[in-house]
Amino acid sequence: METKTQTIPFHVADLGEEEAQAAADVVRSGWLTMGPKTVEFEREFASYIGAKHAIGVNSCTAALHIALEAIGLSQGDEVLVPTTTFTATAEVVVYFKAIPVLVDVDPTTLCIDPIDAERRITSKTRAIIPVHFAGQPCDMDKIQELAARHHLEIIEDAAHSLPASYRGTPVGAISKLTAFSFYATKTMTTGEGGMVTTNDDDLAARMKIMRLHGIGRDAWKRYSSEGSWYYEVLSAGFKYNLTDIQSAIGLVQLTKCTQMRNRREEIALKYNEIFSQCGLLQTPIVLDDRESAWHLYVLRLNLDRLTIGRAEVIERLKQQGIGTSVHFIPLHMHPYYRDSYGYSAEALPVATAEYQRSISLPIYPGMSPDQVTYVTEQVLSIVGSARR
Ligand SMILES: *Cc1c(COP(=O)(O)O)cnc(C)c1O
Repeated sequence: METKTQTIPFHVADLGEEEAQAAADVVRSGWLTMGPKTVEFEREFASYIGAKHAIGVNSCTAALHIALEAIGLSQGDEVLVPTTTFTATAEVVVYFKAIPVLVDVDPTTLCIDPIDAERRITSKTRAIIPVHFAGQPCDMDKIQELAARHHLEIIEDAAHSLPASYRGTPVGAISKLTAFSFYATKTMTTGEGGMVTTNDDDLAARMKIMRLHGIGRDAWKRYSSEGSWYYEVLSAGFKYNLTDIQSAIGLVQLTKCTQMRNRREEIALKYNEIFSQCGLLQTPIVLDDRESAWHLYVLRLNLDRLTIGRAEVIERLKQQGIGTSVHFIPLHMHPYYRDSYGYSAEALPVATAEYQRSISLPIYPGMSPDQVTYVTEQVLSIVGSARR
């Protein structure tokens, strides 16, 4: 049967009147920057995760930065980072004149490979930043064991993994420090935004100071009626605070977070059901002891059985109105990381090979069952006509 061409963007955020109303209410209140709504959002977020503290910032990049600052990362230190990630995970290490040491990934999960990570540890290694790729938690038992043996700090990059859990524990309540993203395309959004969670009072206090110019406690109150004109600068901090407009939107998004995740899982299971029958495709696997946030659906092509490559499949999907993306061009293949640290494609073989055959398909709560079916039909038709 001939299906009519549809237009399915790669991502559409699940935003409605409630978010618009919440943002408008903040505007009408007259207090737009960090204030009572941010305090409320932090409290609700911490409770959703089951962490003692949640500190709101204006991006996940900022969250990772203040987390590394809080553990005292210094010039010349080395930090283990998976090569299959967004540049933010590694660039924050460079902010300290420290060295991001790129690590290969596990071929099943595309998460950091703890065995390869251990091989790259030196006397200068201070920390590891596991990225819960596509929303599936990394092997945290192995990473914690490795970190304990080599005295490394763990900072989790949870930009993809809200909400997700590992052996029953929500991501955000596993390690000392976890960074989340509320960027426009992430599992919940405030346009731009981020959060760090921790159970450690001292780290939380340090991060609260550093996200707002290094000024002492509750600095945001200084323009409110209860605030005072007096404040002290304790450190050269950053301008990373989250606004009340963002937090008001975040509070609404948070109430929908579990429901949005469950809808993405339904789509993923439908994709898996259809695509796993096709020998030309490899579907993502979520291991039994963890729950994925299903931020991404990364389909892998069995290129040895196809006459066309990944770029051609993407082009043909685009012609059929389907938006896709690629996660990620490994960091070692970008000019900056390649040239600054001298990585070769052969040094990180799994990430290099898996990148060549990965396509991220649309997966978001607003997709209708018809749209999901249309994507499966088009993918099967394109690869089916290119069988070797
Ligand atoms: C999106 C993303 C980030 C950065 O998030 P921002 O909120 O845009 O700073 C960091 N790490 C990963 C893995 C991401 O996908």
